[in-house]
Amino acid sequence: MTPLRLRFAPSPTGNLHIGGARTALFNWLLSRHSGGQFVIRVEDTDVERSKRVFEDAILHELRWLGLDWDEGPDVGGPHAPYRQTERLDRYNIVIQQLLAAGKAYRCTCAEDRLDALRAEQESAKAARRGYDGRCRDLRHGPDAGPHVIRLRVPEGETIVDDLVKGPVHFANADIEDFVIARAGEGGRIGMPMYNFVVTADDVDMGITHVLRGDEHLINTPKQLLIYAAMGAAPPRFGHMPLILALDGSKMSKRNGETSVGAYRDLGIHPEAMVCYLARLGWSCGDQELFTIAELTTLFTTQGIGSSPSKWDMEKLTWVNGQWMRSLPADVIGTRARGFFAARGWAEHPREAALVACLRERTRTLVELADAARVFFADDYPKDDAVMAATLPAARETLLGVTEVLDGCADWSEASLEAAVHGWCEAKGIKLGKVAQPVRVALCGQKVGPGLYQTLHVLGREVALARLRAACA
Ligand code: GLU
Repeated sequence: MTPLRLRFAPSPTGNLHIGGARTALFNWLLSRHSGGQFVIRVEDTDVERSKRVFEDAILHELRWLGLDWDEGPDVGGPHAPYRQTERLDRYNIVIQQLLAAGKAYRCTCAEDRLDALRAEQESAKAARRGYDGRCRDLRHGPDAGPHVIRLRVPEGETIVDDLVKGPVHFANADIEDFVIARAGEGGRIGMPMYNFVVTADDVDMGITHVLRGDEHLINTPKQLLIYAAMGAAPPRFGHMPLILALDGSKMSKRNGETSVGAYRDLGIHPEAMVCYLARLGWSCGDQELFTIAELTTLFTTQGIGSSPSKWDMEKLTWVNGQWMRSLPADVIGTRARGFFAARGWAEHPREAALVACLRERTRTLVELADAARVFFADDYPKDDAVMAATLPAARETLLGVTEVLDGCADWSEASLEAAVHGWCEAKGIKLGKVAQPVRVALCGQKVGPGLYQTLHVLGREVALARLRAACA
């Protein structure tokens, strides 16, 4: 496969959302699959709403997901700068070239003329709407007074040969001679428009493929017309269906978190997020679980589906639960620390053992931290009814086990197990008769992690204190 160049072009007007994360991931995967490059370009021409803190946050989230880039605002590259507000000189050169070639023209029509034109077209129910081309052949020069720059849209049709949807036809008659640069101060050329800067940058940066959300399909014929005017070969485009909420409505804060950071705070692992995002609109047989390395090998645009995907928190949680089982324990431990700290708990002295005993029983880091309360604090949830029904009747057994455990010099799982087994055998007591009350005494619950794991993670002092309290 020839190496492809793809990009992610976020507008830094907010945090990274799941839709943006999926777009970034798909472009990254295709670039890596092909052995090509991945570029980050910051589309900050909306100067009012663009903020550097959002740019930083977006890059931070991309790194958290495990993505990297060959070129970008923070790492530079051969096509620097990678922020659109730093590329204005370049846009100006391209606009001058388009003007000189007659592909674009200056339009001095005032706002009130355009308003009147719109009103007239509406009342006449005109089939053809939009700018009527009055300035098309007037050849206004740079001194024409306040003016915008419009692209000269030829007759005919523009076909987006979409990688996901197949060919989509647009009649050029429905595309007016659209504005590519606003009017600037003192009759100069002002801020170039969105479709123009995206195209000028994609040409300059040698982008070969663009995967993006459906909402951009409407822009693509205009961008193709700009490529043609610039005499540049366009990239291949693929427009991916929307991500909907589970009930089919538009995804919003009301029916689920939309920002990537919110899912990290819910205790989702980046590996699970990547796997889930990849399956959201892409498939490879009926395989559900992929590592990022597998995805890199398997990802092609043929696997992208054309119907909308639904955001399913249950499924994401299930996927995450699979990673709770398969990630290295120290990775889970390190990630869990923030969740422990948020609950006011310092680092646990037997963190690895704690993770080992809870990872298979929990699906997120939040669930793990909640389940870990019993190992950190005394205010863990206790089932009073179970305690009342279990402990008094088992007092003799508990006193005996406590004494045996107290005599254990080595507080490892294996030695605790050997001690309890030996005692049960000597006394002729079934292990089950011992395990249940001990667990209730230690955790206040009938079900929980393995008994010896629990004893070990609690540590000698806490375990014996809880047993003694239960006997009392
Ligand atoms: N800046 C656009 C956005 O954030 C993306 C433009 C594109 O992918 O062509 O939606």
